Amino acid sequence: MGNEQNAAATVIVTGASKGIGRAIAEKFAAEGYTILLCARNEVNLLAAAEDIRKKYSQATIKVFTADLSVKTQVLVFADWCLQQGTPAVLVNNAGVYLPGNACSEPEGHLETMMNTNLFSAYHLTRKLLPTILKQGSGHIFNICSIAALHAYEGGGSYSISKFALNGFSQNLRHELKQSGIKVTAVFPGAVMTDSWGDFDNSSKRIMEAADIANMVWAAFNLSPQTVVEEIVMRPLLGDL
Ligand code: NAP
Repeated sequence: MGNEQNAAATVIVTGASKGIGRAIAEKFAAEGYTILLCARNEVNLLAAAEDIRKKYSQATIKVFTADLSVKTQVLVFADWCLQQGTPAVLVNNAGVYLPGNACSEPEGHLETMMNTNLFSAYHLTRKLLPTILKQGSGHIFNICSIAALHAYEGGGSYSISKFALNGFSQNLRHELKQSGIKVTAVFPGAVMTDSWGDFDNSSKRIMEAADIANMVWAAFNLSPQTVVEEIVMRPLLGDL
């Protein structure tokens, strides 16, 4: 697509004020798309949008503050997105990791992570889908995790919620096969973002958010008859 066509296409990235979401937003901004970003913290979101605008003046960046763990806010965000145009790309990225094990983690972890990691994507996608279906093309990326593929120490409800997001992705892929809409589940291993707090990555032990963005971009750019169903990425030295 040329830059004018890109500008007419909207790319929705949830949880885009930092980390993987922001890196994906930057990748599409560099190509001149209209980017719709959301997160809860308005100050961080506005600052991220301003930074991206400065780097990529050809892109249009619009922001919406919402807590996507709350269904009513997801639906308001979805309506706003639809007012901006028909989405070419939806990246369900917003997520939260609370470490723990299913047998001993604090009460409420499951609910918090299901609301943020699964229901946000489920409700947002369902609200946008009728419009995307009318268009007959589009690409939905669900940012799962390697925690969606196997159990691990400290995974607990995070892992459960990401397995569920993978389940949602697989069902979407199955249901949308005939529609022209692509669905890709992304399974990153450790990526250096704020989720990793003070982790010292000076030895480049874990991946960079831009690595995930580059793979999303690559999957988006294949021929119309091809879909990448799953992207599994790990640090070269393996999981931590
Ligand atoms: P991050 O740096 O903590 O950023 C998370 C983003 O999501 C922020 O913009 C945050 O902004 C937003 N967010 C969180 N809860 C939200 C909510 N309820 N409503 C709206 N926005 C919300 O996270 P990350 O490490 O980039 O992770 C992004 C995604 O990748 C997550 O789904 C995560 O599970 C997945 N992932 C991460 C890794 C990793 O190692 N980093 C590995 C595999 C998968 P606010 O706080 O302002 O809302």
